[in-house]
Amino acid sequence: MVFEQLSEIMKSCGVVGAGGAGFPSYAKLNKKAETIILNCAECEPLFRVHRQLLAKYTNEILTALETVRDAVGANEIIVAVKPSYKDAIESVTEKLSSFPAVRIATLPEVYPAGDEIVTIYETTGKVVPPGELPISVGCIVYNVETMLNTYYAVTEGRPVTHKYVTVGGAVKSPATFYVPVGMKFSELLKLAGGAVTDDPAYLSGGPMTGNLATLSDVVTKTTNALLVFPETHQLIKKRQAKTTLNIRRSMSSCCQCSTCTDMCPRHMLGYPIEPHAFMRACSKGMETDIKAVVNTLYCSQCGVCEMFACPQDLAPKSLIGVAKNNLRAAGLKVTPQVAKPVNPLRESRYVQMDRLIARLGLTRYAVDAPLMDEKIAPKEIKVLFSQHIGAPAQPLVKKGDTVAADQKIASVGDKLGAEISAPASGKVVEATDKYLVIRTDGKGI
Ligand code: SF4
Ligand code: SF4
Repeated sequence: MVFEQLSEIMKSCGVVGAGGAGFPSYAKLNKKAETIILNCAECEPLFRVHRQLLAKYTNEILTALETVRDAVGANEIIVAVKPSYKDAIESVTEKLSSFPAVRIATLPEVYPAGDEIVTIYETTGKVVPPGELPISVGCIVYNVETMLNTYYAVTEGRPVTHKYVTVGGAVKSPATFYVPVGMKFSELLKLAGGAVTDDPAYLSGGPMTGNLATLSDVVTKTTNALLVFPETHQLIKKRQAKTTLNIRRSMSSCCQCSTCTDMCPRHMLGYPIEPHAFMRACSKGMETDIKAVVNTLYCSQCGVCEMFACPQDLAPKSLIGVAKNNLRAAGLKVTPQVAKPVNPLRESRYVQMDRLIARLGLTRYAVDAPLMDEKIAPKEIKVLFSQHIGAPAQPLVKKGDTVAADQKIASVGDKLGAEISAPASGKVVEATDKYLVIRTDGKGI
């Protein structure tokens, strides 16, 4: 398939990174690419879906990767996977003779092997310079679900309207469901049999990078998981802490041991981010070291410094997140720099997954979440216009209109962003500048 054709299909079908920030997938295509990497690291504890999809839809995913490789003229495809994902590795290995450009690269069983800067280093030995994109070292990285969506977009013209979401933690029957974009979290929770704790609190996303959520939130194209924990669980308490309290605690308790910086995965790859220096600037006044504040722009928000490294239980990641948002709001952008040499002690500072799970208090929740991929049909869905990086989509339908499944209902036109199509047929019963509510023809949960 030619480059322009694939780009147009990915754009019109609204394919975005199915996790993380949701970067529009067509915008990653680049003819300078030498290597296409399938990121199946799936390093957030309790997530299961990528390894499950790769094992089940191997042919579809490898076909999509080959389509991308062909369109951009890349030499090779790397399937980046952890050794413990045995079913996925076995299934890909069986297909290797049909896909000669594919090789499997195993990642260490550590967090955050799925940070694409880390994934690229682990699989190719290349360091993406701070402030640059993966294409600067000839790589394009896509995740597993994104490639499955690309396969359906290319072969059937099917737009992205559904999402695989793991419902886990303190629920009766943890599982991964295939649900329409716009489905309420309250209904997702019902699918997993409900909460098994009296004081449930919710995270959208993983234990390390997810955010507090409510049951009235809805699934978007980037929702990976709904996790339930008792309100008293450390993962909830951490996120509920106020910024002013976090700053006060850092002023009184940060001993400048530098463990956060020593263990920072980006710092170890030569990036200028230094959480301990930021914490010092935070507690002693930013004029003491403004560079440490500006360098927060190179942080991936992986959470290692806060959830694993800090012996004082302080909150460098959360405070860095606030600083990054303020810098961006002020118009500051990350600028390219030359990376320092990779820290020779890097491997000895890996955060092993089993240790991370124990440290986060997740051992009892680290269970299988079987893949249930029959389509779910709720009676009502609320589709947000901004579900991804780039411009919000503009509605193409209004209240009272009838829509068909897969009909385009919002568009970004020529701007960077993603088109949005209806996950189900039905009638638009509410329309604002931020979302549409569709009463569907579905049977309900
Ligand atoms: S690890 Fe904690 S105590 Fe040590 S420098 Fe970092 S924030 Fe301060
Ligand atoms: S969250 Fe902490 S450990 Fe992760 S990249 Fe940012 S500073 Fe480094």
